[in-house]
Amino acid sequence: ETAETVVTTKAAGPVGPAEAPPAAVEVHGVHKWYGGHRVLDGVDLTVRPGEVTAVLGPSGSGKSTLLRVINHLEKPEIGYVSVNGEPIGVRRHGDRLRELSERAILAQRSRIGFVFQNFNLFPHLTVLDNVAAAPVATGRLSRPAARELAHELLDRVGLADKATAYPRQLSGGQQQRVAIARALALRPGVILFDEPTSALDPELVGEVLAVIRNLATSGTTLVIVTHEVGFAREVADRVVFIDGGRIVEQGSPAEVLDSPRHERTRDFLSKVL
Ligand code: ADP
Ligand code: MG
Repeated sequence: ETAETVVTTKAAGPVGPAEAPPAAVEVHGVHKWYGGHRVLDGVDLTVRPGEVTAVLGPSGSGKSTLLRVINHLEKPEIGYVSVNGEPIGVRRHGDRLRELSERAILAQRSRIGFVFQNFNLFPHLTVLDNVAAAPVATGRLSRPAARELAHELLDRVGLADKATAYPRQLSGGQQQRVAIARALALRPGVILFDEPTSALDPELVGEVLAVIRNLATSGTTLVIVTHEVGFAREVADRVVFIDGGRIVEQGSPAEVLDSPRHERTRDFLSKVL
């Protein structure tokens, strides 16, 4: 196989009133190389609206790359990604996939929340402005309306009293909760989490998981890369196990975590449990 952009795809077909709403995220036959190294090897994934998907897999298996492809921080060589029914990054044009404009990519990315392992807050902005910045920058909200929303969201993640603090004055757990509030400020169709608790001291993990659990039960569509197997079992509708750039198996938490069918899944779980 070569890194060609010409791909044959199944036509999605028009969506009629009787049909289900579009998937929140659809990953179609995605291959991604870095140089000669294949990192994603034909990944297909469907996330339905309101569904919580936990992605597990060993280090280097392609989990972060998968999230970055969904968010169009990386471009697949083959395949494409749809978010809320809109292809991201590439668009079908006959049998060819055509690049989207940078503007279209930015508009679509602004419908996707991304929470990073290392929080990535703006250090020079207050907590309130970290949360309010994107809705203002994208022209969605006036400054006063964005600040009002930011106060609501900070209250939701238990940080109403930290609005005027700067990130460096907060614990890692508090910073990650601000990052979650910031992701929510764009009212995203889906939020992607890349190991949101793995940079935290153990005693701070629980407060961040509690906020994510709250989102999960409120019907927000979430894709969570995590090594917290117990948390995945508790909140996920579906668990996906990825190894070597391929989805090895997926299913309910009980199926994948309690009765894994593949040796590689069993091997991984025996190491992390
Ligand atoms: P995971 O998140 O599962 O640990 P990643 O998606 O980060 O895995 O990485 C998968 C593989 O791709 C690894 O072998 C990693 O070294 C490689 N990789 C990731 N990003 C890059 C990059 N920007 N350039 C080259 N190789 C990369
Ligand atoms: Mg990673």
